[in-house]
Formats: sequence, C-alpha cells, structure tokens
Amino acid sequence: MNSADIQSLIQLLAKLPGLGPRSGRRVALHLIKKKNTLLEPLSAALIKVAQNVRTCSVCGNLDSIDPCSICADTSRDTSICVVEEVDDLWALERTSVFRGKYHVLGGVLSALEGIGPEDLNIVSLLNRMRETSAQEVILALNATVDGLTTAHYIQEKIEPLEIKITRLAHGVPVGGELDYLDEGTLSAALRARRPM
Ligand SMILES: [Zn+2]
Repeated sequence: MNSADIQSLIQLLAKLPGLGPRSGRRVALHLIKKKNTLLEPLSAALIKVAQNVRTCSVCGNLDSIDPCSICADTSRDTSICVVEEVDDLWALERTSVFRGKYHVLGGVLSALEGIGPEDLNIVSLLNRMRETSAQEVILALNATVDGLTTAHYIQEKIEPLEIKITRLAHGVPVGGELDYLDEGTLSAALRARRPM
C-alpha cells in the first residue's frame, strides 16, 4: 500500500474535475517522478493562488488584485458583459473582441436547484448599472433553459434604466457552454450580437 502522504495526495487529486481514483493515482505518480520540473513548481503555484487570488468586489472575476485588472483597466469601454461563471469570462477574453468590462453572476436561476435571484450577483449588477454610465449590457449567458430564463429576468430589471441590452447572436448552440466554443464561433456571436 502507498504511504499516507501519497494516499492523501491521490485522494485530493481524485476530487478534481474529470479525474477519479484511477487518474488520481496516475497523476500522483507522474508528479512524484517529475519532482523538480512539475511537482515543486505546481506546489508553489497552488500556494500562491491560495494566498493571493480573490474575487473582484466589483465584477466577481478572479484576480490577485481587487478591483481586478479588467475593472481597473481605464482603456476599456463602459459596456458590461454579463456571464454565468469566470470560465465564460475567460472564454470571451480569449477572443479579444470585447473591450468592455464584465459581471459574473455566479450561476443562473434554477427552479429545479432552488437558485433564486438573491443567490446570484444580480443586485450588484443593477447597482452597478445605476452608478455607472454603461452604454450597453450584453447578456452572454449560455443558451440553456435556465440561461434564457435568467437573461429575461435581468432584461426586465434593466429595462427601466434605459440602457441598450443585447445578447449573443446565433452560433451559440442550445445547451452549449461558452467555454466549449471555439474562439472563431464565439467572436462571431459577439460581433453579431442583437437586441434582446
Ligand atoms: Zn472586476
């Protein structure tokens, strides 16, 4: 049997998305064999992220500084792109098409899972809309039933503020998560965005 240290490493690795006990064992062994080139730099990176990375108090992005580097970037325009999760933000950033700022909801409304508006960063979005002079709000939510429900809910809340509201164009497959789209498809969906 493995030592307790190795065993606990395997158990933690097995909890990572896409891994399980078997992959956990394989990854653990790989890391131990690559002590200098992988295991030690990885431990250092994990400690750094654990110590420094926080949630941006303005938009919900993850960064080592608060407000995050996107919120702090004065060269960006005043439009705000609303996304479900940070990985959607990352996907949009990879396209380099959008030059505004973001707002991460932290999920979508879901009757099934009991997720209501108060569980998401919707109040902070509305406050932000009122306090800043955003020229456009782009609802870049995933094309799932819950994503669409959430988009309509936000649209109703924002409409009285008379801010232009758009959504990503077709090209985002139904049920498709933004992070899985290739950058060309996502860029096209963003460029051809249309009014809600
Ligand atoms: Zn931010």
